[in-house]
Amino acid sequence: MNNIRIAIDGPSGAGKSTLARSLAAKLGILYVDTGAIYRTIGYQIYTQGLDPKDAAAVDGELPRIQVEAVHGDDGLQHMILNGRDVTQEIRLPEISLYASAVSAHPSVRAYLLDMQRQLARTQSVIMDGRDIGTVVLPDAEVKIFLTASPEVRARRRMLELEQRGTPEPYDQVLAEIQKRDWDDSHRAISPLRQAEDAVRLDTTDLDFQESEEALMRIIRERTGL
Ligand code: C5P
Repeated sequence: MNNIRIAIDGPSGAGKSTLARSLAAKLGILYVDTGAIYRTIGYQIYTQGLDPKDAAAVDGELPRIQVEAVHGDDGLQHMILNGRDVTQEIRLPEISLYASAVSAHPSVRAYLLDMQRQLARTQSVIMDGRDIGTVVLPDAEVKIFLTASPEVRARRRMLELEQRGTPEPYDQVLAEIQKRDWDDSHRAISPLRQAEDAVRLDTTDLDFQESEEALMRIIRERTGL
């Protein structure tokens, strides 16, 4: 069987990572979370006390950053930053905005492009992000654009933050989601947009299981998996 590449793009909180992780386990293929890679760069800029919007500062830091995504037997994607496992730290809420800000710099996107393509070169993958179907894997066999209303995405994100022990009020979560949506879809380079050949799935009125079934149908129809 040839390698199969499944690209899932969409705004934050649409359920991409939870669904992609579960589908990858069911299909027995690798799940690659590209947001975690941008978060790792964002985390380095945060710990160095730099302004993530300052292109010169971020560019200057890149040569000092070594990022690795290691897929362990535990099924988790561990992010290694200069030899240190930062998988937990990059999930802190403040890192979301740092990740979004650094991801707008062309230098950062170029720096990470080959790394992402490399992960899909030798094995079948489900990769999620913002520009997987449009830029990273434009020839992917399956492209899905996963979305949901901002209000529903904010509620889901709130639950996730609560479970993680870092609760935040609804209004704040919604405002952050709206800011990231705007920033991610209005940046000059690789903005969040649906690829022309992507299937759009709106999960506003679907629960997890219904969303997963819908995605599995799309994948099976296109790949025969
Ligand atoms: O998916 P996640 O919320 O972890 O991603 C964090 C941020 O990284 C996003 O808001 C987005 O700005 C950026 N990102 C990106 N391209 C990707 C994945 C994430 O620009 N392929």
